[in-house]
Amino acid sequence: MNGGGCRCGAVRLTARGEPDAVVYCHCGDCRRSNGAPLSLFVGYEVGRIEMSRGTPKVYESAPGVRRSFCGDCGTSMFYEDERLPGKVYISIGVFDAPESFEPEAHSWFSQKLSWLDIRDDLPRHEASSHPR
Ligand SMILES: [Zn+2]
Ligand SMILES: [Zn+2]
Repeated sequence: MNGGGCRCGAVRLTARGEPDAVVYCHCGDCRRSNGAPLSLFVGYEVGRIEMSRGTPKVYESAPGVRRSFCGDCGTSMFYEDERLPGKVYISIGVFDAPESFEPEAHSWFSQKLSWLDIRDDLPRHEASSHPR
């Protein structure tokens, strides 16, 4: 069981069981949404996530793509895509114990920032690691 929440604590959640995926995303859309050079998401079945406090705000960043953030402190929390039904991808920094997850792959490596020096041996997908 992994607890997590936003920076201010207004939104808290608990994730049960093992995630389906732990994947970096280098796409420009995530970069802008998270204000960070790259993102790392922990993917779960929606049913494994229990909201224990508050409700994040939702922003539709593209048709069928929902990004959620704390309406008070702005922490980026969830990515959901209609084309990946029943899944929620949680920004790893939201978790109280982010080191309990092991990254598995890079997605959208084609959009990686040129000065970002990645030295791991993980698979590198030029586009999405989860075909839509
Ligand atoms: Zn907050
Ligand atoms: Zn992305």
